[in-house]
Amino acid sequence: TNKIIGIDIGGTSVKGAVIGRDGTLFEEFSFATDAEQGRDALLHRMEEGMRPLLNTWPEVRWLGIASAGRINSDTGEVVYATDNLPGWQGVRLFDWAWESFGLKAAADNDANAALVGEAWCGAGTFREQLVMLTLGTGVGGAYINKGELCRGRRWSGGEWGHSILVPGGLPCNCGKRGCVEQYVSGTALNRRACEASGGRYVSGLELLAAAHQGDPVALKETKAFLQELAVVIVNIYSTLDPDAVILGGGVADSSGLWWQWLEEELNGCDPGMKIRKASLGNRAGFMGAAKLAFDKEEHVSCGK
Ligand code: BGC
Ligand code: ZN
Repeated sequence: TNKIIGIDIGGTSVKGAVIGRDGTLFEEFSFATDAEQGRDALLHRMEEGMRPLLNTWPEVRWLGIASAGRINSDTGEVVYATDNLPGWQGVRLFDWAWESFGLKAAADNDANAALVGEAWCGAGTFREQLVMLTLGTGVGGAYINKGELCRGRRWSGGEWGHSILVPGGLPCNCGKRGCVEQYVSGTALNRRACEASGGRYVSGLELLAAAHQGDPVALKETKAFLQELAVVIVNIYSTLDPDAVILGGGVADSSGLWWQWLEEELNGCDPGMKIRKASLGNRAGFMGAAKLAFDKEEHVSCGK
């Protein structure tokens, strides 16, 4: 196979592309979803959204799927998903791809896929030990050691978003309290912006821009946010000592407004830590998913 479709399933949209073996994007697509309507509506919407594409590219035989949650990459089952994708737990992605389109599939957690994408043709090429954090609706995490994803025994390897930052802190969609996701995700940053400014700023982006202009309230909250993000990164360094931690997701898009402050914060702890900005942006997930599908197809056809 020389062309594969990669998709990245999120709470607000599904993004994807028809991708070649060398990472060329032949056709990109995205369509809105409303994950809140539940799993059947989402699967149906995905079928509708992808069908025209398969008519245009009938040679495609494989689908690479990136999705939030814990994904069993051997069976394609969504082992666990938080309420960011309600009802998603239990979905069998391989069966769905086969029954809907006659496609074989590979599937993985969205942050795992994003890191595979960055390692393939983004910010992580030529590095062996990589960590990725995606700061978006939730916080995704992934770890590659010597070129291999560390998925864990229960498919939650690298889920730093649900490690605990504040004991007894804010309730999380996963059922625990004080998870990292509740403090440093894009969603959390929006909430922090609103709370800290008494409603003057309603988005994280406004808060960051105001901090940049020197507004003391915004600056204080932005620094608190970056300090917490630094704690997460320092803890990752002290356990894994990777070549680099790559930061992606929507919050990284505004990194021009805060990157230097985060570096200063990290340098104060240990100047050896390296952070890098994801370079594939929101394409990383579906590109990595396609790469995983290419690898799997090769495995299958060589009988390995
Ligand atoms: C989920 C993760 C996912 C991340 C980014 C979190 O809420 O638990 O599995 O990788 O969001 O989508
Ligand atoms: Zn959690």
